[in-house]
Amino acid sequence: MSKFLSNKFNNIIPYTPGEQPKILGLVKLNTNESPFPPSPKVLEALNKEELSRLNLYSDPNATDVRNAIAEILSVDPDMIMMGNGSDEILSFTFEAFCDSEHEPVFADLTYGFYPVFCEIYHLKPTILKLNDDLSINVNDYIGLNRPVFIANPNAPTGIALDLDDVEKIVSSNDSIVLIDEAYVDFGAESAVKLTKKYKNLIVSRTFSKSRNLAGARLGFAVADKELINDLNTMRYCFNPYNINRLSIIAGKESVLDVDYFEKCVDEIIKTREYTVKELEKRGFIIPDSKSNFIFPEHKKMDGTYYFNELRKRNILVRHFDSERTKNHVRITIGSKKQMDNLIDATDKILKSI
Ligand code: PMP
Repeated sequence: MSKFLSNKFNNIIPYTPGEQPKILGLVKLNTNESPFPPSPKVLEALNKEELSRLNLYSDPNATDVRNAIAEILSVDPDMIMMGNGSDEILSFTFEAFCDSEHEPVFADLTYGFYPVFCEIYHLKPTILKLNDDLSINVNDYIGLNRPVFIANPNAPTGIALDLDDVEKIVSSNDSIVLIDEAYVDFGAESAVKLTKKYKNLIVSRTFSKSRNLAGARLGFAVADKELINDLNTMRYCFNPYNINRLSIIAGKESVLDVDYFEKCVDEIIKTREYTVKELEKRGFIIPDSKSNFIFPEHKKMDGTYYFNELRKRNILVRHFDSERTKNHVRITIGSKKQMDNLIDATDKILKSI
């Protein structure tokens, strides 16, 4: 830390992203990326179109990709704002709608960035404990009248709420409710259609998981126009050109290639069900995941041990070292071949204990 850093950040603990090592042959199952490349249509469009125009700023409204999303979600384009990853949507939401009179509320076990936003915006969140089975207790979130942040499906558990429960939470709160749908395409029900009915609901989505574009940094919010205007105020105070030219094209082409999107998502869901079955045969207990990752634990092996043993075998998963998560590891669903590698390695590890 330099002597110039503002004192207000003396104790800040930044978000720790999953490692991105460049090790040849590494089976990388630690950051919930897609194992599949972007749609061939994305690659084709990027080769031809935008590269020669990189001397010019991008469209601050990211119109092409926004219109494409509006079309598939059947909402007005004015109900959408693009973000540089959905992390940026989350950041603007904490910034715009939370303060000392509107302190945020979220679960004890959820996306690790929420507490970091609280640090940087000097917020004191209320943390609600998940049930023992790691599901959300819906009643805890009724009528709080404070900004509520829920990842659905939740991370790192993968467990989803159904839409009726989401609606109960949204309708009972006179405050914003953000539903973080980073993983929704892998089997959960989206709350997007409720954004037409409720003026306090923000749904955030990402191209990083089901659309195979984590490196493009593309996310978006869907909400009532007034909320989108507020988010745009934050964005225009920070970085109006937040989506670069190449990502606008990549996002648009990926949305238009419905077949490829569905094929990739179906494959991940199939591989997830296969992996769950194989790991359960080997004694793992796994919460019902509706995402592109699973969160297994094993009675005979703690999470740190399993993580380290996999790592020795060139397989990288994620371990969160807190009281409620230390027995688990989070495993991204990769290709069938990668998951077979994981299962083979797991057999060897289990044999050695
Ligand atoms: N929400 C959740 C629950 C996540 O796990 C992630 C990925 N780390 C994000 C949001 C942010 O994803 P991105 O910024 O890549 O859109």
